[in-house]
Amino acid sequence: MNDNLYPDSLLKLIKTISRLPGIGKRTAERLALSLHSWSDDELKFFGEQLISLKENVKSCSTCGNFSDEEECKICLDLNRDTTIICVVENAGQIAVIEKSGSFNGVYHVLAGRLSPMNGVGPDKLNLASFKSRCLEATEVILATSPDFEGEATASFLTQELNGVQINISRIAQGIPVGADLSFADSASMAMAINSRRTL
Ligand SMILES: [Zn+2]
Repeated sequence: MNDNLYPDSLLKLIKTISRLPGIGKRTAERLALSLHSWSDDELKFFGEQLISLKENVKSCSTCGNFSDEEECKICLDLNRDTTIICVVENAGQIAVIEKSGSFNGVYHVLAGRLSPMNGVGPDKLNLASFKSRCLEATEVILATSPDFEGEATASFLTQELNGVQINISRIAQGIPVGADLSFADSASMAMAINSRRTL
């Protein structure tokens, strides 16, 4: 994009928007111009939501899912089967699995995955309550990504559960290798969960 086309303040907004996943420079340009046509009140409301995003949306103290309260809606839901725990890398993946309608257990969000190359070791993951939660469960589904780091994380978790009486399974085919699970489609995710294999 020609940087002389717009004033600096608009260029800054376009650059910020283009950092969002799936948004190229042209789309960012279109979105920024569209925002400029919003009323002052609408922009103020939008801005307030952004400013309070981190403050309002916290992590569930039990599973690490997004939550406005101490515990998320899933952990508070008495109809969920707490004996099956699905381990995901980030909270965004929960929405994909929920939309697939293939799972009625509870979750455990790692908030990352092992990546020795980037200095991410087990100490950086949300593992404090992992083992104790698994001691109360009968099955844990490892839904980490189907790529090198995701597989390494799944292996590590399997070792961590050595000696714990629990069925450990891994999500199966349906998810393309290297796929970002936060954006997988629900049908693929449903297939991956339903045809999980025991480790
Ligand atoms: Zn929760």
